[in-house]
Amino acid sequence: MTDLSHLRDDFPILHREVNGWPLVYLDSAATTQKPVQVLDAVDAFYRTKNANVHRGAHTLSAEATAAYEGARAKVAAFVNAGSPNEIVFSRGATTALNHIAYGWGLNHLSAGDRVVLTVMEHHANVVPWQLLARYTGIELVYLTLDDDYEVDLTGLDDLLDERVKVVAISAMSNVTGTLGPVRPLVEAARSVGALVVVDAAQLVPHSPTDVQDLDADFLVFSGHKMLAPTGIGALWGKSERLEEMEPTEGGGEMIADVGLYESRWAPVPQKFEAGTPPVAQAVGLGAAVDYLTAIGMETVRAHEHAITGYTLKRLAEVPDLKVYGPSDPTRRGGAVSFTLADIHAHDIATILDQRGIEVRAGHHCAKPLMRYLAVPATARASFYLYNTTDDVDRLVDGLFEARSVFGFDA
Ligand code: PMP
Repeated sequence: MTDLSHLRDDFPILHREVNGWPLVYLDSAATTQKPVQVLDAVDAFYRTKNANVHRGAHTLSAEATAAYEGARAKVAAFVNAGSPNEIVFSRGATTALNHIAYGWGLNHLSAGDRVVLTVMEHHANVVPWQLLARYTGIELVYLTLDDDYEVDLTGLDDLLDERVKVVAISAMSNVTGTLGPVRPLVEAARSVGALVVVDAAQLVPHSPTDVQDLDADFLVFSGHKMLAPTGIGALWGKSERLEEMEPTEGGGEMIADVGLYESRWAPVPQKFEAGTPPVAQAVGLGAAVDYLTAIGMETVRAHEHAITGYTLKRLAEVPDLKVYGPSDPTRRGGAVSFTLADIHAHDIATILDQRGIEVRAGHHCAKPLMRYLAVPATARASFYLYNTTDDVDRLVDGLFEARSVFGFDA
């Protein structure tokens, strides 16, 4: 297995204890821990350069602007965007998807138009389209999953017609770890002139991502899931798509001119960044990108495949445990959801927490998927580059403990 355990020293929080046990953090699909390199970059920004950006004539403002725009250039390079201007900083994936639904959708979609989604979408890629449907009368249609939790494309040809204007898909489910079939969907969407929106909140942190190669129209992700602070994320869009998108928030920073009754917008991407932006958070995201680039995203992905494979193998040893997700670790991401007999997911998480092991339990902001899988909740272990097979072994020991607490044979 690709050994990245030396990186653990970069993450101060991994050295703390929880309930008297060394912490095992298995909730990186919710948010990741932060290395000192990111913490130091944010700290140094506030200590040495802090000022508001863009309009300032003074030195600190120029330095803060260079740091902010430098972060944009780093993020652009990280996903191979055609230009830094194709990167709009947002609060996260959720805000970015709302920008697309309102900023693009309100102006280009109308009653009877269709948006194709999948049943595995996070609420962030469902609810904005539902809100848009209320305003415009668009219809939402859903692709389902096959027996191995992969997106079922067999009915796609029947689904795709000239009514379909947008296909919006998660590149990786935060519940099942399923990789969304972005390439075939881009191809299929093009055949009817539809746009493709990719929710890459779980892809960009875990895998090399090349937006030009994927050739979608929009792709969104969150910084806090890739070692950066909360409050910063990105919306990548093809230049022509961003040009035809309207701003969804108005205020300072996003204008070229403001009159009493009319205003003109600043060029892309400032047009979408109303108000004082999250400068220090962007600097933190730039540092996170540097950190991940130094390790290499191929290495990050290889480590994730290996630890996911090890986890699936070890979980198979636990009687009455059911994993909800693709069986081939190289065809999935490192979010592993499971149920254990009829023990409630929250009880599993509580028992694990008593042993210092942090997993998520609940619907994971994917209620349509939970209903589709016919489970009220699952427990979920999710991995990042700092996790080791020791973490997985501790998880499995904890699950045997949960079995015995609930009176099941070991
Ligand atoms: N999409 C997916 C697949 C996610 O996992 C998440 C976060 N759990 C989001 C969107 C939303 O990200 P954020 O809360 O950072 O906006």
